[in-house]
Amino acid sequence: MPVQSTLGGRATSEQTTVGRLVDDYMFRHINLDVPDWYINPDHKALLGSAEGASICAATPLTYAPGLLDVLQADTPPSPNFFMTTPTVDGKSWAVYAALLTKDGCDPALYIGSGTDALCGHRKRVAVYHDKENRMLPCYVRALYDGGFDLAHVGLLCWAPIPSPEMVQRARLRFLAVEGTLTNLFFSVIPTCMDDFWADIVPWCREDVVWRSTNSHTALQEGVGDGLNLSEEQLRRREDDRKRRSKERSKKAYVKNTQAMRAQYDLERARDIDAFRLKKRIQAASWTAKNRPKAREGWARGKKKALAERRFYCETCQRVFADSSKLARHNKSTLHKNKSEGVPPTAKALERQAYSARVIADRTFHCAPCNQLFNCASRLEAHNSTRKHLDKHAAVIASQQIS
Ligand SMILES: [Zn+2]
Ligand SMILES: [Zn+2]
Repeated sequence: MPVQSTLGGRATSEQTTVGRLVDDYMFRHINLDVPDWYINPDHKALLGSAEGASICAATPLTYAPGLLDVLQADTPPSPNFFMTTPTVDGKSWAVYAALLTKDGCDPALYIGSGTDALCGHRKRVAVYHDKENRMLPCYVRALYDGGFDLAHVGLLCWAPIPSPEMVQRARLRFLAVEGTLTNLFFSVIPTCMDDFWADIVPWCREDVVWRSTNSHTALQEGVGDGLNLSEEQLRRREDDRKRRSKERSKKAYVKNTQAMRAQYDLERARDIDAFRLKKRIQAASWTAKNRPKAREGWARGKKKALAERRFYCETCQRVFADSSKLARHNKSTLHKNKSEGVPPTAKALERQAYSARVIADRTFHCAPCNQLFNCASRLEAHNSTRKHLDKHAAVIASQQIS
């Protein structure tokens, strides 16, 4: 008899029903009388044993909305169903469906699972967004090469990452669910073995309109030798794996940084002018592509420089936001006179008084940017800056909304 998965107290009745239905199909698959190479006997041995219930309980699956209706319908869903499958934030394991499309061609369906013990499903699912990725399944890659695009990749079901001692067993359970769903939806390519399960699935291969993209069913796969280890051994093994993975990425990071540093020094030593020019071009192109980020960075830098008084004129006791403003100030008559002890002229005093007055009166104030200027020409120059125009447009837009 099928072992039912435990779905937890929060599960709705729809979730319970779809969970039972999928488990029922899963157990019908793993109980098939087929060669061991076609359906790994570990599935039957473990999931079908008394332990099966606890393995299923370790992976309380949540199913995609609408999956129950789909599985209970007389005919397979339209490909649009696979456009509605959700993405799930946070770390979880999942069985996902990727729909690939190309104008004038039938769409293609791939079903897979992501069960990384550390990162969950996200790294696996991200592979489909990169047409050059080495980890793409072979038929998906071939379709990408033939002009197909990813229309959507979403989840059919998911569960929290299991505890280290349950990882291997839970992975077996995921493979079984994945294999069951690849057969139910005929995302697996046709083979002579179809006859073994054609009678237990609800639809016929001829009824589906998408191309099959899975090269084999996940039911063929096993999870290696981990099933015979004790819980303690499994936990230790998983801890080891985590530690090694951390060490590896740390080493790679250090190596990368060192290599980059060496390359940087080499280029610099070879031709300092060319190097500086290259860096300036790189910076300018980055800024052009990341205007808002760059602006934020500048504002932060200015604020910090002001707070730390990095660009400070001792003589005039004034702080500046950046080196160019300080340099301009150092060239000014005001600064030169002060440092040489020349008393300010009547005209200079008059200008200073004027500046102080218009600042106090907020005569030249830009409301959208909340910025003060000490003369009309500065305000006018400001009014034609991109920053001001963006702010101004944002204010008008918000007024139109409200
Ligand atoms: Zn000065
Ligand atoms: Zn402004």
